Amino acid sequence: MKKPNIVILGAGYGGLMVATRLQKQLGVNEAEIFLVNKHDYHYETTWLHEASAGTLHHDKVRYDISSVIDRNKVTFIQDSVQKVNAEEKKVILEGQELAYDYLVVALGAESETFGIQGLNEYAFSISNVNKARQIREHIEYQFATYHNEEEKDDTRLRIVVGGAGFTGIEFLGELANRVPELCKEYDVDYHKVKIICVEAAPSALPGFDPELVDYAMSYLERKGVEFRIGTAIKEATPEGIIVAKGENEVEEIKAKTVVWAAGVRGNSVIEESGFEAMRGRVKVEKTLQAPGHSDVFIIGDCSLMINEEINRPYPPTAQIAMQQGELCAKNIAALVRGKEQLEEFTFDNKGTVCSLGEDDAVGIVFGKKIVGSKAAFMKKVVDNRALYMIGGPGLVLKKGKFNFF
Ligand code: FAD
Ligand code: NAD
Repeated sequence: MKKPNIVILGAGYGGLMVATRLQKQLGVNEAEIFLVNKHDYHYETTWLHEASAGTLHHDKVRYDISSVIDRNKVTFIQDSVQKVNAEEKKVILEGQELAYDYLVVALGAESETFGIQGLNEYAFSISNVNKARQIREHIEYQFATYHNEEEKDDTRLRIVVGGAGFTGIEFLGELANRVPELCKEYDVDYHKVKIICVEAAPSALPGFDPELVDYAMSYLERKGVEFRIGTAIKEATPEGIIVAKGENEVEEIKAKTVVWAAGVRGNSVIEESGFEAMRGRVKVEKTLQAPGHSDVFIIGDCSLMINEEINRPYPPTAQIAMQQGELCAKNIAALVRGKEQLEEFTFDNKGTVCSLGEDDAVGIVFGKKIVGSKAAFMKKVVDNRALYMIGGPGLVLKKGKFNFF
């Protein structure tokens, strides 16, 4: 009998969890497993703010996919997914087509611009290794150029961050540490640099514990960050951004660097493939299957699951993507072995830690609030745990964060 083809799209947190769990759970004779990813490396999406600010080299946030897969069981294909044809049970890649019996879509997120004019052209987003490197190099270039111009252009030293969600705040924490280093490196007066964060909601980190939000904002303000709360970005231009506060107050903020960190949507492949979706995320069954497609599993940032306690979607996080990956592997292994009863997903929320640079953070872990160096320590534990879950102790030793104090 022909072995079933299991195709996993995306080697991020969700996809790699599925691949590494399936290679343990299934024997070579039970299935052909294919893992497709744009690059031959995995990157830690949760560390991209560090690479973007330049506080961590981009090579430190990635590792070879071949180092965590068992090549006797998993065939890795480096290619870009264009579309899923669920009717014909095949995936269209840039270079080939791939037939599947079971499919896992784990292609992660893209930046959500809400159709705001100019963002695609003039703003950066923290969404993959290459974009992170571009942000770092762009900021360095502005600092390096500043002195060499006859007429000083102070907008080169202005960095606007759009959105004070977790990504925006974590990036600001890194920037606040990086700017003094850049000033020293490029002979720039620190007082000339401005880091401005524009947040549309009435508070930074909307919905997070107010005491922790206060701590985070005061900490960042002390390090030179200027917050414009209740202010929305309306347009990005070659000179900077246009913001609006309330009904009538419109202002232009001139800045040579604008980083848009104000939200994500599921990968565009989801909508290209005709799956019914909300902002690129498919509301999956509790078994993680796509509605109407029992052979297609969608996990991570491309999926949407409702937290029934509050009747709102769970925020897309690495934590949930990895837990979904584990269950997805279990359910696919069950199907391969002819079982019909699949397990349902329940999220085990271990908490949230938001870093404020290397030495500080705020968080709620197992229901307890933590701040300062304790929280920063915990953040590194969380980062190392993700490595451990996918690549075991060897990967932690190679790529882990051990600068605890
Ligand atoms: P990803 O891990 O992003 O992986 C998607 C993979 O698909 C990538 O390898 C990508 O290259 C590949 N891919 C994409 N498109 C294609 C294509 N067309 N063809 C082939 N391959 C493709 N969450 C937390 O829980 N804790 C945190 O501390 C945290 N911090 C974050 C910090 C930042 C700066 C950001 C941006 C996010 C953070 N998140 C955090 C959210 C978390 O990173 C995401 O929820 C998580 O990465 C989702 O996992 P995933 O498997 O769905 O996608
Ligand atoms: P988000 O949606 O959580 O936050 C976006 C922020 O941008 C919001 O505060 C929103 O009010 C603001 N915003 C939207 N439109 C705006 C506009 N026009 N002008 C100004 N502000 C605007 O997005 P994110 O921060 O990118 O996070 C994405 C996901 O990744 C979330 O689920 C988050 O929980 C997760 N994440 C987690 C961590 C962590 O756990 N440490 C870190 C980063 C990201």
